[in-house]
Amino acid sequence: MTATLIDGKAAAAALRAKVAAEVRRLAAAHGLSPGLAVVLVGHNPASEAYVASKTKMTAEVGMRSFDHRLPATATEPELLALVAGLNGDPAVHGILVQLPLPAQIDPHHVIAAVDPGKDVDGFHPMNVGRLALGLPGLAPCTPLGCIVLAKSARASLEGLDAVVIGRSISVGRPVAQLLLAENATVTIAHSKTRNLPDVCRRADLVVTAIGRPAMVKRDWIKPGATVIDVGINRIAADGGKHRIVGDVAFAEVCEVAGAVTPVPGGVGPMTIACLLANTIRAACAAAGLPVPEF
Ligand code: NAP
Repeated sequence: MTATLIDGKAAAAALRAKVAAEVRRLAAAHGLSPGLAVVLVGHNPASEAYVASKTKMTAEVGMRSFDHRLPATATEPELLALVAGLNGDPAVHGILVQLPLPAQIDPHHVIAAVDPGKDVDGFHPMNVGRLALGLPGLAPCTPLGCIVLAKSARASLEGLDAVVIGRSISVGRPVAQLLLAENATVTIAHSKTRNLPDVCRRADLVVTAIGRPAMVKRDWIKPGATVIDVGINRIAADGGKHRIVGDVAFAEVCEVAGAVTPVPGGVGPMTIACLLANTIRAACAAAGLPVPEF
């Protein structure tokens, strides 16, 4: 193996420590106590596990945490009423409505109902637009985590040829926008891209957000390139069990890349850390304080 492993767990722990220090500083200097509200509708097991981690880590950094549960039968007006209450609550600086939502609720209506200043998921059209315009705002958490990890492997992203595979609203597109803001030269590839291995091979930085296990092979990667693997794919393992793999054929790509994020333990842990950092940003902006750099 030649590639350096990019340790997402360590990077996430370091970011959470910075957030915790900022929470203490805001309390001492300004009497400000950042608060994050998480709304979970129904009983999706993956969402429940994720929300439990968020609640635990929010408490660990010393932030106020507000958990709201609605039954799977909740109606859209009920959820919108809850969101309106959180929008108006001065103790709540960040609001996250866990997706996916039950079929009777349109997620776009809910996302648009969140106060853009409290939209710590970065999915509100106002924040999507601000990111596209290159203006300050709240950017989505997993893409922010990708940038932190890429910058941990490269002194600067400026001028790099970056290829993002995937154009989803939640990952691929915002990653591309954030890379553009770092002055990378960005190509967005997707399922209709021709000669994807050739497109990928010219990249100094590859970000995969595809959802296809081990799709990106060794010969797609330029020697020394940095590879950020966002994919989370469950595949069958021995004994009727399963395991999680990324979009990258990890062992073979490690033989040629300069630095690679493992799955698990790469991008995944960064998402909640970036959510907490976004809550600090939202709290500072709401209080008219300078927004800290993390
Ligand atoms: P998505 O909405 O399904 O988007 C997948 C993208 O990959 C689409 O743009 C699609 O192209 C493209 N694609 C699919 N097959 C392809 C192929 N054969 N060649 C080239 N492009 C292809 O998925 P997502 O929400 O962005 O998530 C992507 C992966 O990241 C998933 O494994 C997900 O679980 C993971 N994820 C991880 C985190 C985290 O670590 N915290 C957070 C979010 C997502 P088209 O647009 O042409 O269909």
